[in-house]
Amino acid sequence: MRLNGKVAIVTGAGQGIGREIALCLAREGARIAVIDVTDKAFTVADEIKLLNGDSVAIKCDVTNWQEINNMVNDVVGKFGRIDVLVNNAGIRGPRSFITEIKEEEWDEVIAVNLKGPFLVTKAVLPVMIKQKKGKIINISSIAGMISGLFGALPYSASKAGLVGFTRSLAVEVGSYGINVNAICPGFIATEMSLGKVDKGGHTVDFDIFRNEVPLKREGKPEDIANLVAFLASDDANYITGQIIVCDGGWTLRLVGQHPVKFYNNR
Ligand code: NAP
Repeated sequence: MRLNGKVAIVTGAGQGIGREIALCLAREGARIAVIDVTDKAFTVADEIKLLNGDSVAIKCDVTNWQEINNMVNDVVGKFGRIDVLVNNAGIRGPRSFITEIKEEEWDEVIAVNLKGPFLVTKAVLPVMIKQKKGKIINISSIAGMISGLFGALPYSASKAGLVGFTRSLAVEVGSYGINVNAICPGFIATEMSLGKVDKGGHTVDFDIFRNEVPLKREGKPEDIANLVAFLASDDANYITGQIIVCDGGWTLRLVGQHPVKFYNNR
């Protein structure tokens, strides 16, 4: 087990990718603080206990500084240290053209996806700096790195912001033995990517999508969780400031198409 004795905080861990990250790090021996804005955190903490793991569930909104401070104090009170922080909580936001996006919709997406990781990291860092060791892993998106998503303006902007945050923070805290990296998932089958698409009345032809992806399948939450476990472990001690795409090669295809189009248009 690669994370024996370590303590990890995972935000947005009540379902989807965050839940799988929490379970995966627990299987690797870490004690887990399962953080979510809903009571689903308690269900996941119970699942970890069924795996004979150690966990605590804390209901906490990553946009609320007071709740975050209380959460960090509770984690340190229970486990005595924090080795890993996974900033995973995120929302998709409106699927609208720019002129139809309301100011409060923009603010909400930026608050959860970008200000949230800033606030949680700010609260956790003093603990890691004291320990002179820590791993921070931010869950961004291909939408913030390579690919433009149609109808996801605030989401893409927030995830691109998280990429910049990751790189700058890695430079600032490297001398304290703290590694900061980001993962950019492609299409991962979760509530966010499947359920809410259907709720919005959109139809997605998954067979067309699967055909587009070189590895011929959608991503699973485990695909992201396994990468988080690696980055959280000592195997990744010399990796920092990196933005790692995990998308089955999907964006490789998208990028590859651009020169072809350019060539044909000349
Ligand atoms: P998800 O199924 O919607 O799960 C996100 C979890 O975060 C939910 O439990 C959600 O609670 C919680 N959450 C929302 N706002 C929060 C807040 N303010 N404070 C604390 N928790 C909060 O999403 P997912 O698909 O697992 O995505 C996880 C992360 O991966 C996100 O950052 C997302 O942007 C990123 N990502 C996902 C995909 C994909 O294809 N799924 C692709 C690229 C990147 P509620 O259910 O109450 O909202």
